[in-house]
Amino acid sequence: MTDDERPHTTFDSGQPATSDEYSLTIGPSGPILLQDAYVIQKMQAFNRERVPERVVHAKGGGAHGYFEATEDLSQFTKAVIFQKGKRTESVARFSTVAGELGSPDTARDPRGFALKFYTEHGNYDMVGNNTPVFFIRDPSKFSDFIHSQKRRADNHLRDNNMQWDFWTLSPESAHQVTILMGDRGIPRSWRHMNGYSSHTYMWINAGGERFWVKYHFKTDQGVEFLTQGEGTAIAGENPDAHIHDLWASIKKGDLPTWTLNVQIMPFEDAANYRFNPFDVTKVLPHGDYPLIKVGRYVLDRNPEDYFAEIEQATFEPSNFIPGIGPSPDRMLLGRLFSYHDTHLHRVGTNAQQLPVNYPKHAKVNSYNKDGAMRYRNPGDPVYAPNSFGGPAAAPQLFGEDPAWEVTGEIVRAAQALHREDDDFGQAGTMVREVLDDSARDRLVSNIAGHVKQGVEEPVLSRVFDYWRHVDHKLGDRVEEAVIGRAAAKIV
Ligand code: NDP
Repeated sequence: MTDDERPHTTFDSGQPATSDEYSLTIGPSGPILLQDAYVIQKMQAFNRERVPERVVHAKGGGAHGYFEATEDLSQFTKAVIFQKGKRTESVARFSTVAGELGSPDTARDPRGFALKFYTEHGNYDMVGNNTPVFFIRDPSKFSDFIHSQKRRADNHLRDNNMQWDFWTLSPESAHQVTILMGDRGIPRSWRHMNGYSSHTYMWINAGGERFWVKYHFKTDQGVEFLTQGEGTAIAGENPDAHIHDLWASIKKGDLPTWTLNVQIMPFEDAANYRFNPFDVTKVLPHGDYPLIKVGRYVLDRNPEDYFAEIEQATFEPSNFIPGIGPSPDRMLLGRLFSYHDTHLHRVGTNAQQLPVNYPKHAKVNSYNKDGAMRYRNPGDPVYAPNSFGGPAAAPQLFGEDPAWEVTGEIVRAAQALHREDDDFGQAGTMVREVLDDSARDRLVSNIAGHVKQGVEEPVLSRVFDYWRHVDHKLGDRVEEAVIGRAAAKIV
């Protein structure tokens, strides 16, 4: 390409720039002139390049793809995306939770598994993780939990003592911490992990019948993990290993896929089920509610502009479409508020107008208007109700809001209303019945390795008690691995 054929550098407002290399100066060694608006605007743009990173899930990557419903689940939901044969465009973002934007992809941490589906009824988002449970069950503790994972106020260092202090004082964390410290705490890549809705949601069919549902996106690449040693080594060599792996495999046509399965609980089962199905620290055992296949999720296109398509993508669990709704899961209800709110702060009041967030297949007829960076208003009339033919809600098309019946006094109370609700039972089942001997050995080694990095009394003794409550033998082994002597008996 000759110099004449190259595109010409311009201002952001399109005027031609005269130099890519030299500021306008008085004489070759004199000061820069304020009239060099090109250089000034270049510096100003650079100074404003960053939007605030996500408080959680800052480090991540993603790609575009689609979901194809291969099975007929219309008996459970009328959601357009889940009607057999339907293919829906999507964007996915995977992430670690606690680390900042430049932190290593191979840290021991849950992984975010966030999906946006562009349906003709508007965008549907599922903001899940690679684990089916979470550390806490009440959103009032979320900021405390995250603060314990992030940096200290005094020396700006992360602190394992702080993490175990929070976990051991919050025994509902045991199930998630068991998974975190096990093999799935460091996936080999984002392609080699499952995604779970974690929360229970409501599905509603065309006849108005309601069901409770949990989503399981099972990786077709197989679940694979990194040992702590491998994860630590890769963190030093290539902190962006998972971004690179996803990008490179899509680039060479090795497209990652997941099979979506759901567990369906009849609406009436919830009240008397042995576990609280709306407690996100619990799974629904497969034996009680087997997986039902729904379809296939495929990633087939890399972003061309990471910042525009992934960093500024705003996934919001409050983005439901007809046929899908929330459940009484308290963590979910907290997230319905919090995600949209954080995007208003992080990306901006009109983040939903950016191309990656804008519904591709539904028309926006909202009565919201103006605000920073808005480039498209709905037009007049700007209020409802109106007598000028403006948009009107159509419950006859979409049905009522998803709902469930509630009675009771206003209280602040623990949730142990179901006969097997406790903090340690399901974690213990996993340790004893799901893990094999070598996975249990790695679990002990991962816990001990983490605890040895800075956990002190009185937290240390509580750590051993915590694991004995999960499984007595496991607790003994952890104590022995940490302080090198046969465990004292407790409980
Ligand atoms: P199952 O034997 O049917 O399921 C056990 C599941 O454990 C597997 O299907 C697999 O989930 C998952 N698993 C295997 N290894 C690990 C690991 N290292 N870390 C995390 N998960 C792992 O039994 P139940 O359904 O009765 O559940 C028993 C226990 O298994 C639960 O208490 C829970 O701790 C764990 N579990 C259950 C899940 C569920 O949704 N029922 C999901 C994940 C874990 P997958 O098939 O999704 O890969």
